[in-house]
Amino acid sequence: MELEGYIGRKFDTKFLRGDFEFKELDEEIIKYCRVLSRKGLTPNKTGNVSVRFENGMLITAGGTDLGKLNSGDIVYVLNFDFNDNTTFVIGSKEPSSETPMHWMIYNRYEDVNAVVHVHDPLVKEENLQKFGIKCTEREFPYGTIELAEEVVDALRESRYVVMKNHGSVSVGSNLREAVEFILDIHRRIKNESKDSWQGKKF
Ligand SMILES: [Zn+2]
Repeated sequence: MELEGYIGRKFDTKFLRGDFEFKELDEEIIKYCRVLSRKGLTPNKTGNVSVRFENGMLITAGGTDLGKLNSGDIVYVLNFDFNDNTTFVIGSKEPSSETPMHWMIYNRYEDVNAVVHVHDPLVKEENLQKFGIKCTEREFPYGTIELAEEVVDALRESRYVVMKNHGSVSVGSNLREAVEFILDIHRRIKNESKDSWQGKKF
């Protein structure tokens, strides 16, 4: 039986002993995750957020409600070994199922320091073109290396990318910027639908 909202991971996690200081990054992640949740962008415990941190990244744990996130739901990922499909972490929970994608993005883009993935119900196939939103060409299952590569490729053209039939990914030089890309697209689509409704004659 699969629990509602449970998202399985397609890689192994090795927990390492160690300690680290969040340096207030946990507060920042929690703050922005609440914003995304309040806007309805992380339904059914979906969505994940990461920031570049020391030699790796901090990422939200898998299957967490981003609206109720606390420091214990943030995992320090020190490495992701694509040969062994294994990630090495410090933390008490499994990292997000999209950890390979986040890791690959930081590897490929030096100027990216934050990655946000949400499921915005307003972002639909039919309005992508209208709002100039970049979409991946091929569809791959969540959490796979293939999907990660497809997203990394698409990010060359845009800092906001829709994964075909899945959800949105944005990147930024900091978390505020990555979140702002997500909120900006959401606002634009929302305002547009409001305008077209108001323009209708009854
Ligand atoms: Zn997703």
